[in-house]
Amino acid sequence: MGELANCARCDKVFVKTTKSVCPECIKEDERLFQIVYNFLKKRENRQATIPEIVEATEVKEDLILQFVKDNRLRSTQFPNLSYPCERCGEPIARGKLCDNCTTDISSDLRHEQELQRIKRKNQEEENKKARTYFTRNKN
Ligand SMILES: [Zn+2]
Ligand SMILES: [Zn+2]
Repeated sequence: MGELANCARCDKVFVKTTKSVCPECIKEDERLFQIVYNFLKKRENRQATIPEIVEATEVKEDLILQFVKDNRLRSTQFPNLSYPCERCGEPIARGKLCDNCTTDISSDLRHEQELQRIKRKNQEEENKKARTYFTRNKN
């Protein structure tokens, strides 16, 4: 018997696979995927946006986004399947962040490290001052 895990969707205990959700949820996802896919396959629906798909298929937006993120629904095929970048809200069709934010974040990281360095230095200065003050006070 394999390792057990809780399904990320329904919380049921299941034998762990490479997926984070249980076989039933996978089956359910598959069913919903077919609904969304069948809707989008029609020529008149190719340009549908995510809110329009939610409206027409009653499949949850999160799940549709998941299909897009997993590349099961491709934005090359369906041009309006974009979702907002988690940082700036620009429409994107893969990953979590737009290209700009990805670049920004790596420079932010460097910036953050620099801030930490300055903060530590200031803290040391403060400590030195506090000690001086203490010594002077005592005299
Ligand atoms: Zn489940
Ligand atoms: Zn962004």
